[in-house]
Amino acid sequence: MKITSIRSHVLQYDLPEELGYSQQYYAKRTAHIVEVSTDEGITGWGECFGPGPVAVANKGIVEGVIQPMLLGQNPLDRDVLWHKVYNLLRDHGQKGMPMQSLSGVDIALWDIAGKVAGLPLHTLIGGAHRRQVRSYGYGMMLKRESVDDHVARFIDEAAAIRDMGFAATKMKVGLGPREDVRLCEAVRRGVGEDFPFMVDANHCYTTSDAFFVGRALEELDAYWFEEPVAPEDHDGYRELRAGLSVNISGGEAEFGRWGWRAILENRGLDIAQPEVCALGGISEYLRVLALCHAHFTPVVNHVWGSAVAVATNLHLLAAMPPMPGGLNPWEPWLEFDTTDNRFRDQLLQEPLDIQRQVREKNGLVDVPQGPGLGIEPDRDFLRAYAI
Ligand code: CA
Repeated sequence: MKITSIRSHVLQYDLPEELGYSQQYYAKRTAHIVEVSTDEGITGWGECFGPGPVAVANKGIVEGVIQPMLLGQNPLDRDVLWHKVYNLLRDHGQKGMPMQSLSGVDIALWDIAGKVAGLPLHTLIGGAHRRQVRSYGYGMMLKRESVDDHVARFIDEAAAIRDMGFAATKMKVGLGPREDVRLCEAVRRGVGEDFPFMVDANHCYTTSDAFFVGRALEELDAYWFEEPVAPEDHDGYRELRAGLSVNISGGEAEFGRWGWRAILENRGLDIAQPEVCALGGISEYLRVLALCHAHFTPVVNHVWGSAVAVATNLHLLAAMPPMPGGLNPWEPWLEFDTTDNRFRDQLLQEPLDIQRQVREKNGLVDVPQGPGLGIEPDRDFLRAYAI
């Protein structure tokens, strides 16, 4: 079997309303879907992390840089091909966009391997430790409105996400440390006493501001404090983890086994959040997962993007071994964005229908059972949203 083409489908539409997090507001939803074709008619699908113009630039890397390295190669040699691409790109990007681009291609090669074997991705990896995964819903994005308006909206939105059936919820912060504490109090009020909530700072704080917010999160019994400081600030992570009782999480902006080795050895994470569509694809995710578990660090995958990314993560979460294991083991969660996303809800011929599953199964979502990723994108949809 030979690879005959590698194509990027960059999709985009205008969101019904502008959304924000601590770094910027955005008004468009973008997805970058990768399609690997073979001479035997089997097609693999993957996805690259990266919004807007980043997706457009990554399309250039996928089609213009990686494709020529892999044309004519056997797609089943995915680990050989991974190292060929990585070694040739090492001088030009051990992190960032080259790795995001490689990720989408690698995921598509795993999809092909599953289709050839007639096995779902989770079986190819080693089997399902769980047939269903509990999902948490994130929302409570920033908008161009007053702090008081944020507070009122966050109370309502937090309660609404809880009522959708999700197992927990996650909010954004980023208005400023004092204002952010008010937002966190609003979310605790919205969800009530016992419901878990998490706080995502998208690395907007200095270490001292993160301590200020983190102490409030201890009082509010928040479950985790995500990306409190810049991903490069290893000292900040280590000091926060040592000084706060709230779980410190992060890692979505880290790449490859060498980057992950550094942040795990630094001892700054209670919960690791690898992003399979960015860190190097499924091949590298499995190595990073092993590293995390070698450090006894629990993993909750970062999930963002289209139905391709969600399906990929459902398989990975199913195949994740219990760590450390037990009668009632710690279980990973599926991250789910509750804001408007047609690329997740409408891309597939048979949608995953996560929201309905969450509502009907008390927060649980089934793992896809078809070969490979177990999904088939709708080509008319791909054409309609291509930019
Ligand atoms: Ca995040």
